[in-house]
Amino acid sequence: MTVQSLIVFYELCAAVAVCNHAMNMAGQELYADKIIKKFHFRPRLEVLWIPGGDMGFSRNFITPQLSRSTIIYILLFLWPHMAHGGEMNTEHLDISSHCLLGKFIPSEQIEFIEVDAAYGNKAKMYLHKQAYGAFVAMAEEARNAGIVLTILSATRTFRHQKEIWETKWNEWPFEEEHEKRALTILQYTSMPGASRHHWGTDIDINSLENGYFEKGEGLKAYSWLKIRARDFGFGQPYTAKGIDRPFGHEEEKWHWSYLPLSRKMLNRYLKKISHRDLNGFEGSSTAAKIDVIGKYVRGINKECYQQEAD
Ligand SMILES: [Zn+2]
Repeated sequence: MTVQSLIVFYELCAAVAVCNHAMNMAGQELYADKIIKKFHFRPRLEVLWIPGGDMGFSRNFITPQLSRSTIIYILLFLWPHMAHGGEMNTEHLDISSHCLLGKFIPSEQIEFIEVDAAYGNKAKMYLHKQAYGAFVAMAEEARNAGIVLTILSATRTFRHQKEIWETKWNEWPFEEEHEKRALTILQYTSMPGASRHHWGTDIDINSLENGYFEKGEGLKAYSWLKIRARDFGFGQPYTAKGIDRPFGHEEEKWHWSYLPLSRKMLNRYLKKISHRDLNGFEGSSTAAKIDVIGKYVRGINKECYQQEAD
């Protein structure tokens, strides 16, 4: 990196930091997501996503005096995002599309709630309140039957899914074969922007191995879920593949979805999201060729899909 490019990078960071300050976000670390949310931006430009995930810029980064070039960068860098309601390149997207793609911060959404330690294996997992309430009721009923249901994964953001996807993408030993690489990953992992975990309605329970659910405690839990989960609104999107479900991810006995919400999310997704919206990660160019939306987003157990007037 040349000195000049370092200066440019610094100026961009300073511009972001100054804007952050102007929005009275005192005491908080700056993440591009927060800026986006504050202005109701649509983060269509990856440049707004600070690389490195958790890398942020503290207020100390704010320079006391603004250089003229910094002000220019503020205007050049951020103004286009504020214009036209925050939409820059993808005028067809709106806030709900944004959420469908996982481009939001669950902890900052009023309709989301953190999963209590009693029901999850780690902190900082979030679900839509309705889905969570239904899960708690189901878990308590299961407990009465001697079955423990523990959430291993709940809402995942686009950024989180991108990390998972790109880790697998970069483990692939061959340079070429992009489509084959994507299809292999898609067996058990959704593309960023195409995961039901973005919606706050879907959870992984107890184990990420089908084998766990085929004997002992796991079989007991799965047998119970197959009968009772629907009483609480939950269904299994990724059942065994066959005539009824010829396409999509492989069977996942651990993945359950709160259908009263996720059916609506799916309908909305299919109406609003196209393969053009699946971008900003390695291998995204394969999405349309593979027909990720038609085969994977829609390739679910029929019980979990219902055409609704929306
Ligand atoms: Zn899952």
